Amino acid sequence: MNNKLYGKLIFELSHPGRRAYSLPKDEFGSHELPSAMRRAEDAALPECDEMTVVRHYTNLSENNFGVDNGFYPLGSCTMKYNPPINEEMAALSAFNNIHPLQPLSTVQGALQVEYDLQRALSALTGMADFTLNPCAGAHGELTGLMIIRSYHETRGDSRRNKVIIPDSAHGTNPASAAVCGCEVLEVKSTADGLVDFDDLKQIIADHPDDIAAMMMTNPNTLGLFERDIPAITKLVHDAGGLMYYDGANLNPMLGVARPADMGFDVMHLNLHKTFSTPHGGGGPGSGPVGVREGLEPFLPKPHVVKNGDKFDIEQPERTDSYTVENNHVGPFLGNFLVIVRALSYILSLGKENIKMVGPLSVLNANYIKESLKDDYELPIHGLCKHEFVFNGLKDKSTGVTTMDVAKRLLDYGYHAPTIYFPLLFHEAMMIEPTENESKETLDGFIEVMHNIAKEARENPEIVKGAPHTTPISRVDDVEAAKHPVLTFRQLAAE
Ligand SMILES: *Cc1c(COP(=O)(O)O)cnc(C)c1O
Repeated sequence: MNNKLYGKLIFELSHPGRRAYSLPKDEFGSHELPSAMRRAEDAALPECDEMTVVRHYTNLSENNFGVDNGFYPLGSCTMKYNPPINEEMAALSAFNNIHPLQPLSTVQGALQVEYDLQRALSALTGMADFTLNPCAGAHGELTGLMIIRSYHETRGDSRRNKVIIPDSAHGTNPASAAVCGCEVLEVKSTADGLVDFDDLKQIIADHPDDIAAMMMTNPNTLGLFERDIPAITKLVHDAGGLMYYDGANLNPMLGVARPADMGFDVMHLNLHKTFSTPHGGGGPGSGPVGVREGLEPFLPKPHVVKNGDKFDIEQPERTDSYTVENNHVGPFLGNFLVIVRALSYILSLGKENIKMVGPLSVLNANYIKESLKDDYELPIHGLCKHEFVFNGLKDKSTGVTTMDVAKRLLDYGYHAPTIYFPLLFHEAMMIEPTENESKETLDGFIEVMHNIAKEARENPEIVKGAPHTTPISRVDDVEAAKHPVLTFRQLAAE
């Protein structure tokens, strides 16, 4: 936008004495504060007229890139379409004007939403029951690991504190294990990106009595289906450990395969990814945890149950025990309005359509992968699931990096894929289109990615200098992280 007022801070638009409102004069008499209570100097607030304020914030909001204004192939984040019907449901005053301490007889409908979602998630995953209390994926992982430790401790097996995690796992997996007081044993990936079964066997042989669990993501972070799951689960179970499933990105499995049927004991889901709650910007999220039959007593309380045709809440016992089943893992019954959105999404798709989520997300990812593999290096060939990883441009002689490609995409109006993750390749570029995109949208992205590869060969400087059309061009990531300038005053003092 070629406008002098655009791209400025609200403070820079300030003029002394400008006001965006006017109160009726004299009608209420004078309301001057006693001078002893007044500040010596006026607060440094911007002084702007109303139109300037409206335009400033509207322009700012339009700088935000969201699923509703463009293609957003951010791998591992599942930036899927968030249907407005979910927002309408979450906006119902019967849902958002209630209080968690209201008498249960007055919130039966809200409890039914929780109960129905517990049942729907159980049906989709094969688990026996779910807690909806954890407020994020990582929070779900921690809760799941606490359930696993509690299970071992209840059996007098409290020595088990080792958690096996593949090197391709999401960073939250080892972090959650560490927070839970466990030690992480990393299992390597093979050249074709799957769990190295021989390495796993060795790890288990080296720790015969103290494996608490193995955490797995399937399809894994490279978008590959782990073929050896039956053998892996048998190995871990025989060693006395439980299998944990990171279901943050359940997309390709929805309606196709169920973690419980694969032998997993405990899992979490990200409602804010797979079940279409808007995310990014840090929340709100929800990371429900499911357990297979037999582990239900270890689910944390409070927990919604159905007695006859009434819904009730099982409360924690508040004993001195620190086991997870006797404690709150989060406030009340989780992020309720995210739970409402997830149920709305599941019910509006229905039993038949939800089965299409998996196949369509897999089709879309493979279509992009196959269309671009002549220009971008594909380190692992074969069918992927809902996402896949390129290792930068195929032609390494141009000097154009994955970062450059990501920045250049912004000039073309596309959000960048996830870059430099997973850590298995130096120039990783992780692409996840999700199931909702039309063929024309995918073709548009493919064309732009081809264009960028061509530019890299013919005019690399234009890619290396990108973005050229955004309000701010390339920022210094390191400087921004080490010396963030977060206030206007600080900026003025520079
Ligand atoms: C996003 C993600 C997580 C973490 O979820 P948060 O809600 O961000 O805590 C864990 N595992 C995988 C595979 C993910 O993609």
